[in-house]
Amino acid sequence: PKLNIVILYGGKTGEHQVSRVSAGSVIRNIDRSRYKLLLVGIDEEGVWHLQDETELEKVIAGSDPEIQPGNEVNAMPGRGLGVNGKLLKIDLVFPVLHGTFGEDGTVQGFLEMIGLPYAGAGVLASAFGMDKVKAKELWRKEGLSVVPFIRYSRQDHEAQEVTPEVLFTRWSSELGAPFFVKPCRAGSSVGISKVRRPEQLAQALDTAFHFDNDLLIETSINAREIECSVLGNREIRSFPPGEVISSHDFYDYSGKYLDPKGARLEIPADLSPASTQRIRNMAEEAFKALGGQGLARVDFFVDRDSGSIFINEVNTMPGFTSISMYPKMCEAGGLSYRELLNELIRLGLERHSERS
Ligand code: ADP
Ligand code: MG
Ligand code: MG
Repeated sequence: PKLNIVILYGGKTGEHQVSRVSAGSVIRNIDRSRYKLLLVGIDEEGVWHLQDETELEKVIAGSDPEIQPGNEVNAMPGRGLGVNGKLLKIDLVFPVLHGTFGEDGTVQGFLEMIGLPYAGAGVLASAFGMDKVKAKELWRKEGLSVVPFIRYSRQDHEAQEVTPEVLFTRWSSELGAPFFVKPCRAGSSVGISKVRRPEQLAQALDTAFHFDNDLLIETSINAREIECSVLGNREIRSFPPGEVISSHDFYDYSGKYLDPKGARLEIPADLSPASTQRIRNMAEEAFKALGGQGLARVDFFVDRDSGSIFINEVNTMPGFTSISMYPKMCEAGGLSYRELLNELIRLGLERHSERS
């Protein structure tokens, strides 16, 4: 019999659209001879809607999944999900959600509570992956190298009696200039600035504080950007790393999503066998340190001058279309997109059965 898989997409997040594109690709490529798909779209208010067969057919024919209102999905704690009080038959939920309320541990915790298996990272690794400061503090403790950074909160900022010029002098003497200002919990490069001159700092802080109360101020590395896919529960495997070659000042939002010439992906990356091995090991270690299960894309900086390797961040639900970096790197390691989806479902079921 086919397994009943819920594809969960949309969401109350800045990355709602990106999620729908990723979900469309998952729906078209998943092995439908093995799985019966139920589409559940989360609207911008956060309400879950079960989609009917015609929506599924439209997506299979090529359009991105939409969120038709009608059949509201309700939680039935300990039992699963229902519509109008009637329990839906579900074997696993596949959250194809990015960012807040998607890859930050909240939806994972919710699914744990209602008792349904799900694909992807668990609560802890998802939450760590979303928090750039917490993740870096942990990696540093584990002896994995990260770029020098300072955490800076809104409270610190309000208690400061100093001008941005003084802050610039302080930070640039500690971290060098230019430096990066980033929100602690965000993605897709939103809220991130590269600060070269004192007069740019006030704006950079404003922009970052718009997205989060906690910031990272970070040394800017003149670096190649290398990414590595990892997959697994207890046994973690990694795949050949890839490189993102951005044509912008850095890999910003427009380079990711708006400008078709904003970035080029090179898979596998042109690295020495030793560097490749080192990056793969570090990716596996970084994922394990966070208690990772399922999948993650671990992103690195490789210093162009010194060759030093730094872990930048993990993304526990990275861009997931068939042409995205994560699936492409798996493919370069011999795992096709379709097999990758099978594997993620298998890993989600395995974790669930070990816990219950
Ligand atoms: P996000 O989660 O939004 O992708 P990142 O930390 O990956 O946040 O930053 C986005 C981009 O900004 C990176 O891909 C890189 O191009 C640039 N960047 C961020 N931090 C640094 C740094 N310390 N040195 C050089 N470039 C950086
Ligand atoms: Mg990120
Ligand atoms: Mg990034």
